[in-house]
Amino acid sequence: MQALLKLQALDTKIADCMQKEKDLPRQKDRFAIQRKRLDEEMAQSEERCKKVEVEQRECAQDIEQRQEKILKYEGQLVDIKKNEEYKAVLHEIDLLKKQIGIREERSIALLYEQEETQAQLEEDKSRINEEIARVEAECAAVDRELAEMVAHREALQATRPDHRSQVDDELLRMYERIRKARIPAVVPLNEESCGGCFMTIRPQIVNEIIGNERVHCCQHCNRLLYYPGNVNFPEAEVLEESV
Ligand SMILES: [Zn+2]
Repeated sequence: MQALLKLQALDTKIADCMQKEKDLPRQKDRFAIQRKRLDEEMAQSEERCKKVEVEQRECAQDIEQRQEKILKYEGQLVDIKKNEEYKAVLHEIDLLKKQIGIREERSIALLYEQEETQAQLEEDKSRINEEIARVEAECAAVDRELAEMVAHREALQATRPDHRSQVDDELLRMYERIRKARIPAVVPLNEESCGGCFMTIRPQIVNEIIGNERVHCCQHCNRLLYYPGNVNFPEAEVLEESV
């Protein structure tokens, strides 16, 4: 029974490792989401900058085109004989000049905006890069932890055949069968009740377990029962409670 408790303690440790191996990659999912959010933030900041630049360029082109038109109109003025026609062209030139004035004002405003968005972009860049570095470091830490966990679990599993060979064959068969349905499969007899399901065990069976006469399973939950006084294995209970 003592050898079986040792095996169970080992199996508990192995199961614990496997659970952690399953949970750890989920932490990386969280990092992936953070990483995506940071990339999006960066793209948005760059987009804002680009938008101002594009408008600035369009504004400059617009002004240039209108200035060319004015030159063209001014060239035509010399050849115009009719007074009305002359006035109409002058009016057009005047209109273009006003339009240029509005765009020049916008262009100045855009220059300030460009300075602001550029400064913001630089600020965002350094902040976001810092956060990305932090997320990547945490990701690497998770990978390291996972690799250590796998190595630890494999080392534990390597000792399992040795632990198994120390357990009585019949007991081992029972243990392996019960373990598929209930963990822990082996539980202590507490006073007169099962340490697994807490139901009362018949006095005759209690006596047989205490007397170490026969191995019994709990008639309610089917777990293997042992009397703590009969074994010298304090770690067993500590391990069971930590699960
Ligand atoms: Zn029980």
